[in-house]
Amino acid sequence: MPFVVVTRAPMTGRMSVRSPKPVGGKGGQVEIVHTFRGPIQPEDVGSTLIHEHIFVRNPELETSLPDAEWNPDEAVEFAVRGLTELHALGIRTVVDLTVPGLGRDVSLVAEVAARVPINLIASTGWYTPNVLPTFFQFHGPGRVIDRVDPLIELFIRDLTEGIGVTRIRAGMLKVMADVDGITPDVARVMTAAAMAYSATGVPITTHSHPASRNGLMQQTFLCQRGVPPDRIIIGHSGDSEDLDYLRELMDNGSMIGMDRFGMEHVLPDDRRIRTLVALLEQGYANRIVISHDAAFYSHVTPPSWRAHAAPKWRMDTISRSILPALRNAGVPDDAIDQMLVDNPRRLLAVAA
Ligand SMILES: [Zn+2]
Repeated sequence: MPFVVVTRAPMTGRMSVRSPKPVGGKGGQVEIVHTFRGPIQPEDVGSTLIHEHIFVRNPELETSLPDAEWNPDEAVEFAVRGLTELHALGIRTVVDLTVPGLGRDVSLVAEVAARVPINLIASTGWYTPNVLPTFFQFHGPGRVIDRVDPLIELFIRDLTEGIGVTRIRAGMLKVMADVDGITPDVARVMTAAAMAYSATGVPITTHSHPASRNGLMQQTFLCQRGVPPDRIIIGHSGDSEDLDYLRELMDNGSMIGMDRFGMEHVLPDDRRIRTLVALLEQGYANRIVISHDAAFYSHVTPPSWRAHAAPKWRMDTISRSILPALRNAGVPDDAIDQMLVDNPRRLLAVAA
């Protein structure tokens, strides 16, 4: 897949162009991107929000302690409207990083995908900051039901056959480590994800905890298990203002996700922008992706709370206010295209 890396020279604003080293070892093969509506050509990925959520749910609680704000029909309509507006703003692809543990329901999201002009991409993994559900304590190598790790079966099935009873194939792996670090169960998820990467070439996004700089631990852990650093996105790196930490992740070869624009209850956007501009001035556009980590509905942070506590935490904040701010700060369009189009296309493309 031919492309060029455009690097902004520090201070002068002069553009330099260089050829990157090949990415992912996929040279010469036909590449595709798996979406909710089937495979598409990498060229058709376009401007991409690479870390978002359509619906974050908790099906057990929904049936036991219903949330008055959760109405699936209304939620689908709301998401269809929102994604249609995003398309009008130029966004062409949204990656839904809602994996099991966050109430993934691809059948419901497929209803949205069928009605919007935007490509939606599903993901697989397991969301836990520390401990896996009881099922996984009983099933696996050396456990009561001694068998292959069902996490590996799940991830590879999602990536190669389709999720559940659907034929929708995941296009991204997602793992997490938060303030507790890489606990034994988190290590188990990450090990299974590394194996699923090796079988499929699908990239891995992490949820990291930048305050403890644990993106470096995630990077080391995954690389030691055979994942090339350039197939890893260290997510939530935008919560950090530690330039040395962020540069180290990228100098080691990984992508960083400046992926929480609008999440001003964690860090205001002007500070997120300042950090991003500093890294772009140092020529890191080819290592950065941008997104919001927003949702059309979240059981954890429901719409009524978001409306007053985090009003800019929406999937149109980058289009409406962050890109204009970046341009005002002197960031050239090439760098913006690199973060929004070229890097996601390179990451999401896998051998057909
Ligand atoms: Zn997320």
